Amino acid sequence: MDIKSSILVTGGAGYIGSHTAVALVEAGFRVVLLDNLCNSELSAVEGVRSLVNAGRGASVEVPFYEVDCRDREGVSEVFRSELKKGTRITGVIHFAALKAVGESVEKPDLYYDNNIGGTKVLLDVMKEFEVESLVFSSSCTVYGEPKIVPVDENSPFLPSESPYGFTKQECEKLIEEHSKTNDIPKLNSALLRYFNPIGAHPSSLIGESPKGIPNNLVPYLCLSAAGTISPLTVFGTDYPTPDGSCVRDYLHVMDLAEAHVAAIQYLIAKSLSSDLTGSSHTRAFNLGTGSGVSVLEVIAAFEKATGIPVPHVLGKRREGDVVSIWAEASRAKSELQWHATRSLEEALKDAWNWQKKSK
Ligand code: NAD
Ligand code: UDP
Repeated sequence: MDIKSSILVTGGAGYIGSHTAVALVEAGFRVVLLDNLCNSELSAVEGVRSLVNAGRGASVEVPFYEVDCRDREGVSEVFRSELKKGTRITGVIHFAALKAVGESVEKPDLYYDNNIGGTKVLLDVMKEFEVESLVFSSSCTVYGEPKIVPVDENSPFLPSESPYGFTKQECEKLIEEHSKTNDIPKLNSALLRYFNPIGAHPSSLIGESPKGIPNNLVPYLCLSAAGTISPLTVFGTDYPTPDGSCVRDYLHVMDLAEAHVAAIQYLIAKSLSSDLTGSSHTRAFNLGTGSGVSVLEVIAAFEKATGIPVPHVLGKRREGDVVSIWAEASRAKSELQWHATRSLEEALKDAWNWQKKSK
């Protein structure tokens, strides 16, 4: 049988995972999606399938497995099932995690078990099936409240503000440790530290669908603009920033998706390169635009991009918020040949179009 290779996308029915699956297929990869659907719906998988098949003569198969990453046998079975079909999983992009900061404070054990436990199982199964390339979804939250902005990848991990942030720090350490102690098979990994992904695929076939009332700025802002939720509260206007509101680095989710394609290509190249034969390689990358934007600027940019007013009130600071953070993103540019190309307005327009469609 002719063996083909695939990339396994855990959390593939989620927000970033679904967009990345589309970008991977567009770049010529075969993808296999795994998700336990604890924070997503099967409709996202259908959206991916529609998008990758639009305008194509031949049908592109996108297998989906409803499996929990902590279920060792279930995860192994995904690799085995694909082998039986003549497909070998040669790389993994690991998105699957719980990500609600507030919930993580209430249920830290659930976050440790799900996020760290799931990563441990995945590393074991990757070793069993000799998979050498791992892209891990990390976050700028590993930097805590940075002393210097923009932050580069050498900035220290500061005590995390939440159990969620702690799980990202621990998973990065776990992967690094696993790489150091495993040269046969080796594990090459890219630890991608996302800043603030926003927006949706321009087709509006996939987007961000948080369950319940959103915690994040842009999903909340869109619902507020649609009039289906109370006005947006700007959390804090007395910070030491130009307009008093917090500053973040917002990047379009399609830019982020393309960064994952660049990262997996980088790892495959590392695997093939002779100078690194025999030794594992781990590298962290900041993924952001390199520009900081305040909450009030996001509201103004949304109104400019869509012509829709955002009902909002100025409120108190939210506990645990970092004041200002944005990325020093030159490493990704020089080593992954990736940089964000889409504007804030484009991202907000795509977020709004998705919101209108998913009403
Ligand atoms: P998401 O919740 O939309 O996607 C995560 C997916 O993983 C969901 O579909 C969920 O059902 C699944 N999942 C969770 N635990 C699982 C488990 N044990 N087994 C199998 N599936 C499981 O979130 P997202 O925004 O797409 O985030 C993806 C990754 O990126 C996460 O690791 C998150 O921590 C990280 N991240 C996200 C952001 C952001 O702002 N969205 C920022 C930094 C980092
Ligand atoms: N924010 C806000 N109102 C909201 C949600 C968020 O003012 O309803 C602010 C929040 O204080 C932060 C920024 O928007 O400064 C981005 O918040 P988000 O939760 O999206 O991301 P994170 O805090 O993880 O960077």
